[in-house]
Amino acid sequence: MVQAGLSTSREFARHLSCSRRDFLRSATGVTLGSALMCASPFVRGVVAGKKRKIIVVTFGGGARDQETFAPEGQENIPHLLHELIPQSSFFTQMVNQGILGHYVATASLATGVYETFNNFAAIPPEHPTIFEYFRKDLKRPSSDTWVVAPSNGFNRIGESDYSSYGPGTGARVILPKHLLTAAMSGTTTDYEHLLRDNYETPLYAPRLGGNEFELQQLETILKLSVDDFKTHAKTLSSPDELSMYVVRQLMRQQAPSLLWITMHDIDVAHAGAYSLYIEGIRRTDRLCGEFWKLIQSEPEYMGNTTLFILPDFGRDSDGDAGGNGFQHHRTGDPASRTTWMMALGSGVREGVIYDHPMQSTDLVPTLGAMMGFSPSLSQGRPVQELL
Ligand SMILES: [Zn+2]
Repeated sequence: MVQAGLSTSREFARHLSCSRRDFLRSATGVTLGSALMCASPFVRGVVAGKKRKIIVVTFGGGARDQETFAPEGQENIPHLLHELIPQSSFFTQMVNQGILGHYVATASLATGVYETFNNFAAIPPEHPTIFEYFRKDLKRPSSDTWVVAPSNGFNRIGESDYSSYGPGTGARVILPKHLLTAAMSGTTTDYEHLLRDNYETPLYAPRLGGNEFELQQLETILKLSVDDFKTHAKTLSSPDELSMYVVRQLMRQQAPSLLWITMHDIDVAHAGAYSLYIEGIRRTDRLCGEFWKLIQSEPEYMGNTTLFILPDFGRDSDGDAGGNGFQHHRTGDPASRTTWMMALGSGVREGVIYDHPMQSTDLVPTLGAMMGFSPSLSQGRPVQELL
């Protein structure tokens, strides 16, 4: 029985991957890559002269194909489809076999191990994070790697408690909402749309106390006064816009080589309003397009940056009796596990699509191979097409 279920899941994942592939080929004209194609040596040569930067963006809490990479969803992602994918290596079958909670799944992406801790607990990942491997092996200071995360529940994601790594050896975590709350010192009336912390369990309020960024560092690290921060925040319409504002400042002032940004607006879907979910997808699509343009215009990043965009996982399909369609990700069905990944920029072949299966845990070993560090405890395998 178990065997039969597994093969059905695999078949479903393959089917979903193929329909994504065929849709993308017809909508964007990208070509199908073979497993033997590697990144262009010419591009690699250019990169070698400048310090390489890697930025990972998680695509917002997960969206389904019918609202994104399918004929009926394409109107929601014009920037991904027409600006980014033609420049990308796109992988249509990234499977997440772990727990489908945002913190634990994002931590799994960052450790290369399917972490099994309680998603709603203020605890660090059990295994070393990419940030710890990166700093230890390449002897980088803490200013060279940062995480910007939307939810206070992500405050421990920057470093594990694994012996020989752990506190002080990973990435600092900026929680823009936490920062904004602190900046407001109590009066948050004008900013409530930017401060909603967790869409799935709104009453969960984690205890902070990790290596997070504090208000007094706004001025010293981001070179922003509290007043400027508050004034600019007032012009923004969502938490992910607030995160992107902080990211831009961080890139200009600290220019980290390894930067990790978790977007989360799409997860408003848990509230059950389809229109808000669609609005979240469209905004995330626009922010990804704007972010790629920003990378191309910042002197520290243009020409030497590889950008990865991928969801932590998807959402439930309409057909599963145990789920509630787009609203949640509770059934663990193949639709909610079979996601995608795009890589673009330095060292990446443009306009190619790959449909073979890979795992969420493959990201960390891939980044390790690209940047020259060894994520020795990660479970995944480097994606050869990016090396
Ligand atoms: Zn969610």
